[in-house]
Parts: sequence; structure tokens; C-alpha cells
Amino acid sequence: MEILRYLMDPDTFTSNFNNDPLVLRRRQTYLCYEVERLDNGTSVKMDQHMGFLCNESGRHAELRFLDLVPSLQLDPAQIYRVTWFISWSPCFSWGCAGEVRAFLQENTHVRLRIKAARIYDDQGRCQEALQMLRDAGAQVSIMTYDEFEYCWDTFVYRQGCPFQPWDGLEEHSQALSGRLRAILQLEHHHHHH
Ligand SMILES: [Zn+2]
Repeated sequence: MEILRYLMDPDTFTSNFNNDPLVLRRRQTYLCYEVERLDNGTSVKMDQHMGFLCNESGRHAELRFLDLVPSLQLDPAQIYRVTWFISWSPCFSWGCAGEVRAFLQENTHVRLRIKAARIYDDQGRCQEALQMLRDAGAQVSIMTYDEFEYCWDTFVYRQGCPFQPWDGLEEHSQALSGRLRAILQLEHHHHHH
């Protein structure tokens, strides 16, 4: 059975997921998600559990995803992997990264991978947010070329148009990955003191 789902407008994708630090954009977060069931080392993609969200009426996109989890009717006896492709890494606030952490602690059958286009520096506290998520078991990484292309192919109403990378996509991705590694190592270093 083919499942119809809403696809993102191409301009919305390219303007929100552009990872060039010099490109100004609204403080809107877009989050594309997919859910897989993990089974004996293999993963089964659940096509009915794919989509995208953005923040709405002050509710952050991350929390809007948590809001829809009950409707996914995940079986607590199974293990699931949720992947977020997100335009900004989650912010530091108890009502954002903190709630994601609480969710992961309460839902041990859900593994979360967060692939961020950019690191959101929330008043210099992105390190705390990223550490909080990492410590809660989330796998945090920076979106690569292949992942931008995958999102374009999967979540965007592209009408057959192939992904058109913007200038410097790979350089920005590598620079941000280096920054993320440094942040997580820095935090890791702290734990040994
Ligand atoms: Zn947030």
C-alpha cells in the first residue's frame, strides 16, 4: 500500500538546511524524521512513520516530535531507531534538550540519532545541550552531503529534480563536524576531573 504523506517545499528545504554559517535565516527549526524497527542486526524502515515538523506556536520541533510518538504506537517489546535530520541542533533548555533526555530515559526501546545541519549556539550553551543528549544515549552528528541528498530525495516535493548542493556544503559540514567532535571531547575530558 502506498502511503501518502506531505512533502516539504523545495525552497523551505534549501533555505532552512543550508549549512553556510554566513547565510542568515529565521530561527525556525525544521525536523525530518524516520523510524526503523531494529531486528537482529537489521533495520526495517516504517514508511508510515516518516515526515517533517517545524516549531509551531512556541513549541519546539523536537517536542512536537515527542508529542506525536504515542500515535506511532511503538511496541515496547521491540527496539526502534528514530533518526532526526534537523536544521539546527536542539537548544539548551529544560523544555527542549532536557525533555528529549527525559524521553530517552523513559523509552529505553527507542534509540535516537540526531543529524544536524548546523549547531545552534544557544547563548553559548550548545555544549551543554549536546552533552546532555549524548549522555542520554543519543547519537549526535553533523549532516553530510549524502544525508542532505537523502533528505532531499525523501522528504522534499522535488518533482524529479536532483539535489543541487550549495557552494561550500562539504567544507561547512566538515568544519561543523570538527567543532562537534571538539565539543564532545571537551565534555568528555571534563568527566575525568
Ligand atoms: Zn529547542
